[in-house]
Amino acid sequence: MHRSVEADLLSLRCVIPFVGMPGDANATGWLAALQRAIPESRIVAFDELSAEEKARCTVAIVANPRSADLQQLTRLQWVHSVWAGVESLVRALSNTSVTIVRLVDPALADTMAEAALAWTLYLHRDMPTYAQQQRQRRWQQQPYTAPQKRTVGLLGLGALGEAAAKRLASAGFRVCGWSHGRKSLPCVHCFAREEGLQAMLVQTDILICLLPLTPQTEGLLDAQRLGWLRAGASVINFARGAIINDADLRAALDQGHLSHAVLDVFDIEPLPADCWQWAHPRVTVLPHCSAPTNMETASQIVAARIRAYLATGVIPAGVDRDKGY
Ligand code: NAP
Repeated sequence: MHRSVEADLLSLRCVIPFVGMPGDANATGWLAALQRAIPESRIVAFDELSAEEKARCTVAIVANPRSADLQQLTRLQWVHSVWAGVESLVRALSNTSVTIVRLVDPALADTMAEAALAWTLYLHRDMPTYAQQQRQRRWQQQPYTAPQKRTVGLLGLGALGEAAAKRLASAGFRVCGWSHGRKSLPCVHCFAREEGLQAMLVQTDILICLLPLTPQTEGLLDAQRLGWLRAGASVINFARGAIINDADLRAALDQGHLSHAVLDVFDIEPLPADCWQWAHPRVTVLPHCSAPTNMETASQIVAARIRAYLATGVIPAGVDRDKGY
């Protein structure tokens, strides 16, 4: 085909902006994976859109976009995020009626379930204690507890929490879960709302946080609620740093009420070098690595939704702006 004809045909293909954070090292990878998943459209980085394209598009794919960039897309009706957590998007689009669709990917849930099991076993089999004993050249066996005698409590039983709960139950743990509305899941003792929170925490040995960050969950794990956990309990935070009150967590660890915290997420990321968590003997710091998004599977999910929208004009269901997730 003649080059200029080919270029004309290319420019007629539907343009879908990809709006990421400027300087994001993963942007090129996302553009390529999305383009492979949606070959019939043109996926174009925000900075490369013409003024006309900016004024025309009704849908965009986003990864931590700046609200100033989104404001330039004046006909925008909905965005598909490539992340599961959408608290910053909800803030960035707070004064608009743009629908926010978040990533719900079974592959992500599977990876998170694996992380939940891995770090639960780390605590369950006393690995922090054995690592410390090795540093001290101390040969000492810790008492063994069977998983059936260990209660894992999950905060959040959504796409990720439910998959984690099932994986932990099949590994033999006694599993409890807390959500906004009461759930009914096989092998999981389900609790809901504020009154259910205390009932679950008082029987929890290992607490795993998989809640979204919303005005209701910010600072949820404070001194009182951490104090409801069983003496010597551990906490794993895979959700967002701001859900735990840092000072209260530190006090509960220092006092020995909590034996360990595995923290994958923090208020400020990367965690600054002078933060107390790095050197605390009862803290394991992880660099937000529990469930990385799989670009290929995520792009396929985004592609299916965008294709359906382009065929029907129907905008998929988005997050509930009042609930914040
Ligand atoms: P989701 O499907 O929206 O599930 C959220 C769960 O939290 C639901 O069970 C919901 O209850 C419950 N919930 C929300 N607010 C609540 C409240 N105030 N009281 C009680 N329960 C409440 O979300 P998800 O896909 O499982 O993801 C959860 C979070 O994981 C994300 O928001 C993100 O921050 C985090 N994440 C972290 C990583 C990582 O690598 N560390 C990766 C991906 C995601 P209902 O079911 O009753 O609505």
